[in-house]
Amino acid sequence: MSAPDAITRAPVLILLGPPGAGKGTQARMLESRFHLKQLATGDMLRAAVAAGTEAGRAAQSVMEAGGLVSDDIVVAILRDALDAPDAAAGVVLDGFPRTEAQAAALDALLAERGRQVDAAIALEVDDAEMVGRISGRFTCAACGEGYHDTNKPPAREGVCDNCGATEFSRRADDNAETVRARLEAYHEQTAPLIAHYARLGTLERVDAMASIDAVATALARITERARS
Ligand code: ADP
Ligand code: ZN
Repeated sequence: MSAPDAITRAPVLILLGPPGAGKGTQARMLESRFHLKQLATGDMLRAAVAAGTEAGRAAQSVMEAGGLVSDDIVVAILRDALDAPDAAAGVVLDGFPRTEAQAAALDALLAERGRQVDAAIALEVDDAEMVGRISGRFTCAACGEGYHDTNKPPAREGVCDNCGATEFSRRADDNAETVRARLEAYHEQTAPLIAHYARLGTLERVDAMASIDAVATALARITERARS
């Protein structure tokens, strides 16, 4: 893999797909392989909840119920993240946009900055499998690497492959009941965005029931195209 150089552009990629589709796993892969910055609104909201900010207090109960946080809050968080220096070399949006209003806000934010969505990547999965995928997942508390009880356990039990830490965490909303609410929110409010990006000509569809490596290879190819 070549290092970024003067002729590569700073792309804006979007990962679309229901909870459990692998957006976070693949976004972190793109971050390490292409030096893109992962902007995960879910992570940012969880940080706001943990810090007890005003936005966090407003978001907490909605997140615990599996609903969507208000567009105003999420767009404000995303705008700040886009303007941070570490976003200058390109970004991969994970969990944003999630509504038509967020998609319109994103188009406007990017246009003001002379940028645009280069590729909107739909991770296509079989919904029925998602509850199982999500209920088994956990992350390294130190570096955020994602794992799964059966699909992707650490090579050495209890030790992160990536950084060696031994503390892991599970999300409060990764239980079967909340997962079903999140899937419903996805189908009602987010899945229609696939048509939005198809109309703009930036949509790429990827079979995300394939192995993590196969999906990563497909995304790497799309990223190479998007930044050349
Ligand atoms: P997942 O994609 O697995 O559901 P995320 O970490 O992306 O998980 O999001 C967790 C929760 O954070 C969502 O269920 C929702 O309540 C909130 N959230 C994240 N991103 C957005 C967004 N763009 N708009 C509204 N709510 C969001
Ligand atoms: Zn780790």
